[in-house]
Amino acid sequence: MRIVIAGGGLGGLTCARVLRAHDIDAVVCERDASREARVQGGTLDLTVDEGQWALRQAGLEAGYRAIARPEGQDMVLYDSAGTLLRREATPDEGEERWGRPEADRPALRKLLLDALPEETVRWGHAVTRAEPLGDGRHRVHLSGGETLDCDFLVGADGARSRIRPLLTDTEPAYCGVHGMELVIHDADRAHPAASALVGRGSFSAIGNQQTLSAQRNGDGTIRVHLALRCDEDWPSASGIPFDQPDRARAALKELYAAWPAEFLALVDAASGPVLVYPLNALPVGLRWDAAPGVTLIGDAAHLMSPFAGQGANLAMRDGAELALVLAEGGDVRKFEQAMLERAEPAARMSADNLELFLSDGAAEKVRHLFAKMFGEED
Ligand SMILES: Cc1cc2nc3c(=O)[nH]c(=O)nc-3n(C[C@H](O)[C@H](O)[C@H](O)COP(=O)(O)OP(=O)(O)OC[C@H]3O[C@@H](n4cnc5c(N)ncnc54)[C@H](O)[C@@H]3O)c2cc1C
Repeated sequence: MRIVIAGGGLGGLTCARVLRAHDIDAVVCERDASREARVQGGTLDLTVDEGQWALRQAGLEAGYRAIARPEGQDMVLYDSAGTLLRREATPDEGEERWGRPEADRPALRKLLLDALPEETVRWGHAVTRAEPLGDGRHRVHLSGGETLDCDFLVGADGARSRIRPLLTDTEPAYCGVHGMELVIHDADRAHPAASALVGRGSFSAIGNQQTLSAQRNGDGTIRVHLALRCDEDWPSASGIPFDQPDRARAALKELYAAWPAEFLALVDAASGPVLVYPLNALPVGLRWDAAPGVTLIGDAAHLMSPFAGQGANLAMRDGAELALVLAEGGDVRKFEQAMLERAEPAARMSADNLELFLSDGAAEKVRHLFAKMFGEED
């Protein structure tokens, strides 16, 4: 059986790796020109039943423990006036320490790529569309004009999936929020104050309809994220020159002018490009009629905003579970139903959290949310 996976993100690579563990070779068509073509920064906390489960199926648990940073679960939460609302420290030992350890996305991707034969991922192979050939077979069209025929096609090509139209006409919609990412390099040595503020894990400050957060990565960088409620055309309408990082950072500080100088120092400490991106999502509870020989996983199937911290975890679980079903000749339709049922509460939580974190008076609501999550009276 020839399996083609469109997209070599965490979902597609996990699927390919679990198939390989069952002696099945898949072809992964990846748009990026090479492993190094795009810096995929950021850190992800892998959940026991999703990301960690998937890596166990992939036979990569030991490799994962070697790159995981349990102490990355440390967190501090402030309001935009600088009042500390919550501080959590990771236990030094015990199973709790392994609850949701952080791992850098590039390290996770490398772990999966290194465990696949070199020829599995076809770099620079952007899928433009796919068409059914009958009997569940598909023809995949690539940007260079080449085509690949397969017996089973997996759409793991993220938010703007080219495989999704085979199953549904539904497209992601704008959530009303833009995110921005800045990077602080060599944080401990060059920016000790910023480094101390963020600590071993993450820093979050919540204002009215805007947030500022920062996360330590395992490579010595700190990733700073800003999110604000705005119209979809805000990046151009705002007049902020995002292609001129120094001026863009100065303009962003204006937007946060009333916030503590200590917090804005995170923006000052950053260097390099300022990435700006809209948050989009597919409708919560999206379903489609199954079609033979094709399915979707990860963001292609259930794109949600990052406010539940679940997208990558679900993508990995989807990829591993689908691979097991394909290896055992199981029912893909049942897999699809289970996947969409699993994603629905996460998508709802993500939509609710986005509304809550980007609302007026959000800091108090977020403090309350955390108290509830930790099972405390509030
Ligand atoms: C700021 C931010 C923070 C986040 N934090 C978390 C978190 O803490 N925890 C968490 O679980 N999730 C988090 N997420 C969500 C997570 O990043 C995604 O849900 C996850 O990456 C989805 O994985 P995927 O493999 O389905 O898709 P993707 O990661 O999008 O991978 C898709 C792959 O397909 C390739 N591709 C795209 N189009 C084509 C094409 N036409 N042809 C061939 N290849 C193609 C892409 O290059 C990419 O490699 C966050 C997201 C954002 C934006």
